[in-house]
Amino acid sequence: MKLHEYQSKRIFAKYGVPIPNGDVATTPAEAHEIAKRLGGPVVIKSQVLVGGRGKAGGIKVAKDAKQAEELARQILGMTIKDIPVEKVLVDEAADIKEEIYLGIVIDRAQRTPVIIASAAGGVEIEEVAKTNPEAIIRLPVDLERGLLDYQARDLAFELGLRRDFIGQFVQIVKGLYQAFVDTDASLAEINPLVVTGQERLLGVDGKIVLDDNALFRHPELAELRDIQEEAPAEREARRAGLSYVKLDGEIGCMVNGAGLAMATMDIIKHYGGEPANFLDVGGGAKAEKVTAALRIILSDPKVKAVLFNIFGGITRCDEVARGILAALEEVKTDVPMVARLVGTNEEEGRRILAEANFPSATSLGEAAQKAVALAKGA
Ligand code: GDP
Ligand code: MN
Repeated sequence: MKLHEYQSKRIFAKYGVPIPNGDVATTPAEAHEIAKRLGGPVVIKSQVLVGGRGKAGGIKVAKDAKQAEELARQILGMTIKDIPVEKVLVDEAADIKEEIYLGIVIDRAQRTPVIIASAAGGVEIEEVAKTNPEAIIRLPVDLERGLLDYQARDLAFELGLRRDFIGQFVQIVKGLYQAFVDTDASLAEINPLVVTGQERLLGVDGKIVLDDNALFRHPELAELRDIQEEAPAEREARRAGLSYVKLDGEIGCMVNGAGLAMATMDIIKHYGGEPANFLDVGGGAKAEKVTAALRIILSDPKVKAVLFNIFGGITRCDEVARGILAALEEVKTDVPMVARLVGTNEEEGRRILAEANFPSATSLGEAAQKAVALAKGA
């Protein structure tokens, strides 16, 4: 789950990271009021859960409260990467001299958090990583010992920070690291961390991605979820208790079990197709779940064929077959489909599908080849 910039920065501030004064507005009048209270130039920042807001025109500097109101009106009317802007953050504008990147992620291979820093911060750190990888510093952190002062100081030296900023920097990295650990984040990032004309370090942009599997430990963070910002398909999947990840291909997959779902995606690719999603309906999938899953898969306009791959254990193939037919009653569609049902009550399941003229296959290879052919219009 991603947190908004303003939410992330408020968390960072609790850990001693200096951030600009500011507040959130949902109307131009509110933006005016906040800007007036702050005095001086402000920056109006769209709060949407996508990157590259600056480039999309969703971040603008206003010289006074009147202009803040105008710009807030503009930005609140924008749609950035299909997401309508509902809120803006009005922050005191910073006088930026240098932009540093500072982030923490999990390095799965090393099984540690790793701090990533670069003096070439600002927009598009991914681009820097590609074109100028030497400009990126990586510091793995031992979870038992935590981040030690000397490591934070070394990082400051490597970034080429001036001596008088080192104390501030150490406090910021340690604060960011503690925030990362305490919130069970998978990403905590300040980009840019800026050096201001007032000789201060300031976290101008902030981002936290929380690990959904740890959210149960943080009810207060779970409440920060912005439902308007979730893609509708993801929202519905979460409500129906389905694991769903949208991908870019054309073959929708409905599978029970995460491992089987991965294998299904592999075999689709093996036969020259591209999966449109990962979807695990879970064990004992009943008709309502199958219906919800089908609705979600078909909400993706790129889907040209659907492959059901069900391994009946506790899940009964006849139950799933009825679920598929019930789902098709409710979700009218012309998208061609094929099912492969094996395991508990498979004959019964196949008979139910055959009676309804629903194509099935016995092996996964056959099912995948059929799905690929169907998607290609054969
Ligand atoms: P992002 O595009 O979504 O990453 O949004 P950021 O908050 O990182 O802003 C993008 C860029 O806008 C920054 O790298 C800065 O160059 C600029 N920017 C953001 N806030 C300010 C500010 O207060 N003053 C000035 N002068 N520039 C800013
Ligand atoms: Mn940024």
